[in-house]
Amino acid sequence: MTELLAATPENIARAAEVLKHGGLVAFPTETVYGLGANALDAKAVTGIFTAKERPSADPLIVHLARVEQVPLVARSVPETAYRLMQAFWPGPLTLILPKQPAVPDLVTSSLETVAVRVPNHPIALALLHETGLPIAAPSANRFGHTSPTTALHVWHDLRGRIDLILDGGSATIGVESTVLDISTTPARILRPGGVTREMLEAVIGPVTVLGQKRKAEPGLPSPGLLEKHYAPRAEMILFVGEHARDALRACLAEQGRVRKVGVLAADEEAGALEQAGAVVYRLGSDLNSIARHIYAGMRWLDGQGVDLILCRDYGESGLGLAVRDRLMRAASRIQSAE
Ligand code: AMP
Ligand code: MG
Repeated sequence: MTELLAATPENIARAAEVLKHGGLVAFPTETVYGLGANALDAKAVTGIFTAKERPSADPLIVHLARVEQVPLVARSVPETAYRLMQAFWPGPLTLILPKQPAVPDLVTSSLETVAVRVPNHPIALALLHETGLPIAAPSANRFGHTSPTTALHVWHDLRGRIDLILDGGSATIGVESTVLDISTTPARILRPGGVTREMLEAVIGPVTVLGQKRKAEPGLPSPGLLEKHYAPRAEMILFVGEHARDALRACLAEQGRVRKVGVLAADEEAGALEQAGAVVYRLGSDLNSIARHIYAGMRWLDGQGVDLILCRDYGESGLGLAVRDRLMRAASRIQSAE
């Protein structure tokens, strides 16, 4: 039985008890909803992989209430890490650090490193404080599905598989945290996310971005970075390049005659696309809003029973890089329109 509860102080206390006893609790963070378990309890962590049907080669991010807890899970913390923590925690930045032996291998997929962050969300922080434990928490969806940005998304994916869902409304950032490897010089973004490259560079100087792998390969530096991930059920085409908007409209004109077509669109494009026959999900008009809505949009269009989803790229500055990364992973096909 899975309970879906409003995140009142009493229910947060109850959720903390569930976690302390080895249970599984989904909770809101500023990025997406997480599925938490005690990171130091191998049996509890096994439950995460079972509930999500997640392959054990995909390591988890450990969530902490405060910076002072980092030594519970990390063996050593370089000076750069402290600078980044001071600048961006609590917040959507995950740091890869040398692992403390107390952290079960399952959490890190047997890597010598551990991924850590302090989330910037009052409910997540209250829950973490109340447990006093490091909490391993991947996104609270079935593996390969789009990440959940509402409690209802979690309910649809995981009901009957976990103990409790704390409902704290919609996630405000909407894409996962930035994963940063600081063991190299310059530091490398393994996964773009809520803390942008520009923000990082303002604090630690030049940062590189790991080229997106389109296939699962052995020895991938960040094992979760598979080609297809975070995906809707419907086939999805992503248009990139200078003429992406035109190419998308041409595709809609052609495919719309034979299939039910959904489009993830910025507000200013929505009206024209609706007139051309598409089921349109409005993402908003700036990158913050677009990032916040892409997952909900994919889920909504799936719910509308569309056969095909079309979307376009929004560039690579600021949150655009994270948006592009998630759309590329969700897309069945990427079409270049230079
Ligand atoms: P999520 O499903 O949002 O919890 O994402 C977790 C992701 O963080 C994984 O799929 C990896 O890409 C990345 N990650 C976690 N731990 C490590 C690690 N030790 N080294 C590199 N990447 C990691
Ligand atoms: Mg995930």
